[in-house]
Amino acid sequence: MPDVDVIILGGGPGGYIAAERLSQAGKSVLVVEKESLGGTCLNVGCIPTKALLHCVKEFDQIAHAARFGVRADTIAYDWSAMQAWKDKTVATLVGGVTGMLKRAGVRVVTGAGRLVSPDTVTVGDQTFRASDVIIATGSVPAIPPIPGVAGNPAVVDSTGLLSVAQVPQRLAIIGGGVIGVEFASIFSRLGTEVTILEMMDEVLPFMDQDMAARLRSALPDVAVTLGARVLSVEGSTVVYVRDGVTERLEADLVLMAVGRKPLVDGWGGAEIGLEHTSKGVVVDDQMRTNLPHVWAVGDVTGRSLLAHAAYRMGEIAAALIIDPTSAARGQVMRWDAIPWAVYAVPEAAGVGLTQAECERRGIEVTSVEAPLALSGRYVAEHGLDRSGTVKLIAETESQVVRGLQIVGPYAPETIWGAALAIEMEVTVSDLRQLIFPHPTVSEGIREAAWAMKTQ
Ligand code: NAD
Repeated sequence: MPDVDVIILGGGPGGYIAAERLSQAGKSVLVVEKESLGGTCLNVGCIPTKALLHCVKEFDQIAHAARFGVRADTIAYDWSAMQAWKDKTVATLVGGVTGMLKRAGVRVVTGAGRLVSPDTVTVGDQTFRASDVIIATGSVPAIPPIPGVAGNPAVVDSTGLLSVAQVPQRLAIIGGGVIGVEFASIFSRLGTEVTILEMMDEVLPFMDQDMAARLRSALPDVAVTLGARVLSVEGSTVVYVRDGVTERLEADLVLMAVGRKPLVDGWGGAEIGLEHTSKGVVVDDQMRTNLPHVWAVGDVTGRSLLAHAAYRMGEIAAALIIDPTSAARGQVMRWDAIPWAVYAVPEAAGVGLTQAECERRGIEVTSVEAPLALSGRYVAEHGLDRSGTVKLIAETESQVVRGLQIVGPYAPETIWGAALAIEMEVTVSDLRQLIFPHPTVSEGIREAAWAMKTQ
């Protein structure tokens, strides 16, 4: 006899949302979490970075408010108060998840869970059996074997940088992905001299290069060196090679931000034959693994390392455990309709395929870029700053919208509308017929639809 209907290994966004949905449907659920509920997102990822970024933006806005007729002759920031705001935000939200699971009747066991067979999990000397198991163990920062990195106190990962005691004067960031760009935005606004070293030709590899270049150029007070291959770190100096020339970047602190890797080891999956690669636990589009009644959701699948993708994966696994026939009613992961957001200064967001990905897949598309400066609200807030842009990508013949990317304010708040467009396979003509509220920055999407040449 199983002890519970479902055991969930990991209490991050994928795990806790599945627990909530399952318990709402009357299933008995046990969540095993070795650290704090909320996972990377709530504790050391999305939430603390957004709290700090908000503090920094408040400071920055006041510092640059003179052109809007606001004078603040002496302003200063207090890093420890910013840290306190971040910690309070995290505590509030972790408390929220803890309370939600408690109210839902979900049992939470603290400790490192181990899958010893497809239906049995051990935590220390306790053993639990379930009808279904959901693996939601998440991911950890990837630390490449660069000489001088391991054990170097001047090198931190994103978790370490979130809680540094002092704002560094010079920060070198290895990796121009989303973590690198977000932390560059936070610290450059506090006066840190920030340099990003990116190995590839452009930052933010999931964006079209033209849009990533717009964002990179608009990052205020951030130096970006592209095509930089890091050779070693000596103390707090990064040695890298670019165009065949070896260079040295002196800093006070080095952030390693070259990606995260799914946590596929250390909890028993490999030992009982759970199919996985270094990129994650292998799942189908309904979050099934190769073992019956074992599901995997979130970062551990390696399919998308985003909290909101984990939510959806958790919901799909839960829906199929509750009612296996719900697959027929759309409980399937739509990988191409997952929005992404970059909380930088400026912000960016997108959904669907990039133009480059369409070309790789042989989908013939037309794209158009519209400046956000066509929006009255944008001009009222930013003047004629040219960085704000919407890029719309549609199939050339059918005009079905395949992708949309925005660089500019409110982009992460606006992008869900484009996600709906992609999900519903709307056409450029449909988009033109939508009534957008005026004046809003989101009218840039409408401008892009009208700018698109239709046959
Ligand atoms: P990433 O994969 O987004 O970017 C890593 C970057 O590092 C790439 O541009 C890559 O070319 C570069 N790189 C790799 N090796 C390098 C080297 N040796 N030298 C220089 N550059 C190198 O990874 P990340 O920024 O670390 O983020 C990790 C994960 O966390 C991502 O998958 C992301 O989805 C998630 N995350 C999301 C958000 C968000 O949604 N806003 C925020 C933070 C993190």
